[in-house]
Amino acid sequence: MTAEPRRVSVLGATGSIGSSALDLLARAPEAFAVEALTAHSRVDALAAAAKRIRPAVAVIGRADLYAPLKEALAGTGIAAAAGKEALIEAASRPVDWAIGGIVGAAGLEPTLAAARHAKVLALANKECLVCAGEIFKAEVARCGTALIPVDSEHSAIFQALAGEAAACVERIILTASGGPFSMLTRAEMADVSPRQAVRHPKWSMGAKISVDSATMMNKGLEVIEAFHLFATPEERIEVVIHPQSVIHSMVEFCDGAVLAQMGAPDMRTPIAVSLAWPARMKTPVRRLDFATLGALTFAPPDTEKFPCLALARQALRSGGAFPTLLNAANEVAVQAFLRREIGFLDIPEVVEAVLGGPGVAPPRTLEDVLAVDALARQAAVLAIRGLGRTAVAQRAVNRTGNI
Ligand code: NAD
Ligand code: MG
Repeated sequence: MTAEPRRVSVLGATGSIGSSALDLLARAPEAFAVEALTAHSRVDALAAAAKRIRPAVAVIGRADLYAPLKEALAGTGIAAAAGKEALIEAASRPVDWAIGGIVGAAGLEPTLAAARHAKVLALANKECLVCAGEIFKAEVARCGTALIPVDSEHSAIFQALAGEAAACVERIILTASGGPFSMLTRAEMADVSPRQAVRHPKWSMGAKISVDSATMMNKGLEVIEAFHLFATPEERIEVVIHPQSVIHSMVEFCDGAVLAQMGAPDMRTPIAVSLAWPARMKTPVRRLDFATLGALTFAPPDTEKFPCLALARQALRSGGAFPTLLNAANEVAVQAFLRREIGFLDIPEVVEAVLGGPGVAPPRTLEDVLAVDALARQAAVLAIRGLGRTAVAQRAVNRTGNI
């Protein structure tokens, strides 16, 4: 760490990733000067975080929430702003480090703004790379930004690749916990509730990524993310189920050596890797006790039980607009599941229906991506209507109450 405080911004400050990032920043207040914190709609949580961490500006994405945020920050000297333009403006402020912790394609424009104006972009928002990988990477390269993955698997790979020649990499092996339903049959999965789906066995995360982990779409999105981050062809990116979540991923080299990165499942480690890079910093993360750790086990993923992983691979192989379509359709389907409009097994059905719809030209610009994303969302809504699942949703509501 240098003596001069580093300027940092946290996009998605009220989320799971954002909170972990704020925890690290709050532990070393002398080392960081916080420029911007952003959130979507939780004014109270954003204002509380802002009062604790003292950014120059706090931005709420929903324009209609300006007045309550302004009121909550009155007398603090912290500027309040609201709306999409304000979010992009805040993300465009020059900083040494910004973390992209917004969930979904909604984070694309602000995260891209951060990619243009931060020296280091710590990227958690994998959907940015899935829906706009080439465009995103081209901007990062044009601006000379250091793009450091925060997703635990990609952080593991990033660490394993340090100082290695790309030509010597034979395989990337992404580990997956298997999610909360790995022991269920498909028939049992048909009736699971949102409450069950967001209860991940190893990681505490936001609702959307938790459902993605339960369907294994998360691992599919991560295959696409790894393809973009590490310029590795799809067939050299393997997925292995590792329920203990101790090994966060591995890289195999041409000499047969495999490097694995291990640690407790706590996102503060990969965030700290990005924050201190190329050095390291202390964190309060629980240390592994190898004497009591027990067995580490590995198994192949079951893509019949979890078709989302195969759908994501298929979208990556097909290229063009397919990853953008996949991501948007999945976002709509997950939200519909969380609102109990469709069942858990309908999520891959909706995604498959959208991927199998009319062909769409490959997006070449950000505007193209946003247009494909919007098209896919409409198609997903139609697919959901086509399922006629209100009865399923109602049964789930009756059985489990609200999540
Ligand atoms: P979360 O739901 O807990 O938080 C999301 C954040 O994004 C919140 O601050 C919210 O206010 C903000 N947000 C939501 N919609 C927005 C919008 N339309 N405009 C602006 N801001 C908006 O999500 P999370 O679990 O922290 O995940 C964030 C991202 O990080 C996701 O892309 C996820 O895949 C990725 N990620 C998360 C974890 C984890 O452990 N939580 C691990 C790896 C990767
Ligand atoms: Mg991950």
